[in-house]
Amino acid sequence: METTEKLVSDARTYFLNGNTVSYDYRKKQLETLKKMLKTHEPQIYRALKKDLNKSKSEVFTTELGFLYSEIDYALKNLRYWMEPDKVTTPITHKGAKSYILREPYGVSLVISPWNYPLQLALAPIIGAISAGNCVVLKPSEHAKETSSLIKEMVESYFDPSFFTVVQGNKEITTELLKQPFDKIFFTGNSTVGKIVMKAASEHLTPVTLELGGKSPAIVDQDANINLAAKRMVWGKFTNAGQTCVAPDYVYVHEKVKFKFLKAVKKYIRTFYSKDPLKNNDYTRIINEKHFDRISSFLTNGTILHGGRTNRETLMIEPTILDRITWDDPIMKEEIFGPILPVLNFADLEEALNKIKTQDKPLALYYFGEDSQVQQQVISYVPFGGGTINDTLSHLANPHLPFGGVGSSGMGSYHGKYSFDTFSHEKSILKQTTKFDLPFRYPGGKITESIVKKVIK
Ligand code: NAD
Repeated sequence: METTEKLVSDARTYFLNGNTVSYDYRKKQLETLKKMLKTHEPQIYRALKKDLNKSKSEVFTTELGFLYSEIDYALKNLRYWMEPDKVTTPITHKGAKSYILREPYGVSLVISPWNYPLQLALAPIIGAISAGNCVVLKPSEHAKETSSLIKEMVESYFDPSFFTVVQGNKEITTELLKQPFDKIFFTGNSTVGKIVMKAASEHLTPVTLELGGKSPAIVDQDANINLAAKRMVWGKFTNAGQTCVAPDYVYVHEKVKFKFLKAVKKYIRTFYSKDPLKNNDYTRIINEKHFDRISSFLTNGTILHGGRTNRETLMIEPTILDRITWDDPIMKEEIFGPILPVLNFADLEEALNKIKTQDKPLALYYFGEDSQVQQQVISYVPFGGGTINDTLSHLANPHLPFGGVGSSGMGSYHGKYSFDTFSHEKSILKQTTKFDLPFRYPGGKITESIVKKVIK
């Protein structure tokens, strides 16, 4: 497609002309991004209400507020991030100095999903801009209102050769992926992640893949049950479970299961009312396809709480499913909806071994008070990142890299890690011309013995 080709080549010319390199340019673009969001807050709230029925407070905490704090953090630290990193030079290179430069990759492509359609589109852009890249954004076609608004806003605030938005479905994305980007940042499911990585390999383009999977939550017998239930309900049912790091299922110690589930039910009622389907602040499912997929799980196990749905409004009640086994369909794929399957264990090691045989999850949550056991859990099971005695919160700390491992992704971002993700680390060794030690050159008799002394 000619337009796609032109768009990328215009961005490349803009980049190669050095427009994006200076600190001042990057700073100005970050400030523009913040201004763009601040100015359009009412439209943003409206778009997210239409796409997902998100409440204002949820939009602020999980989308806008997150972006503001990432922009502010980048603005505060950008000058420092851009400085070369001096590193040690071994004695074998006496007289030389070494440092690492962070160089922008060039023209980056960001592909984003629909579940946090504003945050997940623009958070990687903060990294791309900070690192001095030009960027093409392909937001999700499923969050139509938000994606159109993003395009409209970006068009009126940014030079299109620097930052542009392409809307469309998988055909458009396929066309985009044929272009020789210098970096691709993809957020979405693992199946599409593989397509993206395959396309990237044609141009040997580096990729960051932010994928999903089944993130377990474990509630041990010594956990603070009330808090565990409260934080589980918040983490699971925020955005109606359409969160990549939502606890997918809960593994609870059999001794505390009854108490835990009673508390979970209490918090579902407290947060979402007795009739969540009539709660105008409760997020809906993105479309019929996902609604039908998620609803089909309601026949698994037994419904302990919730279970009602409304296909007209695309709402599914926060639901607890008991008597679930690993053979149930709900345990075979990422749920990505407001259904919490419950499994119980008597022996923690057995539970951990079972989790270990699954794909490496994006997140893991452990609830328990014994610090030795906490340590054992987090070091025994591989996963992207997680929290002890909480859910989701690790992703809101800009000092922690956020990303998956194995089938839940590769690479990371947030805070300085976003800057690093969109930068090439260029290694420089600056040699002195004041003297020239003879050891490395062939023909000198002392070479071998001296080198052997230095490199033991
Ligand atoms: P998705 O993979 O279906 O779509 C993501 C993007 O890829 C969209 O822009 C879409 O247009 C594009 N796309 C879809 N099919 C394509 C194809 N065949 N070729 C090229 N591009 C294609 O993901 P989704 O359904 O929007 O999001 C849900 C998934 O994303 C879940 O698995 C969730 O866990 C994951 N996710 C991960 C994170 C994270 O940070 N790790 C965040 C949010 C969502």
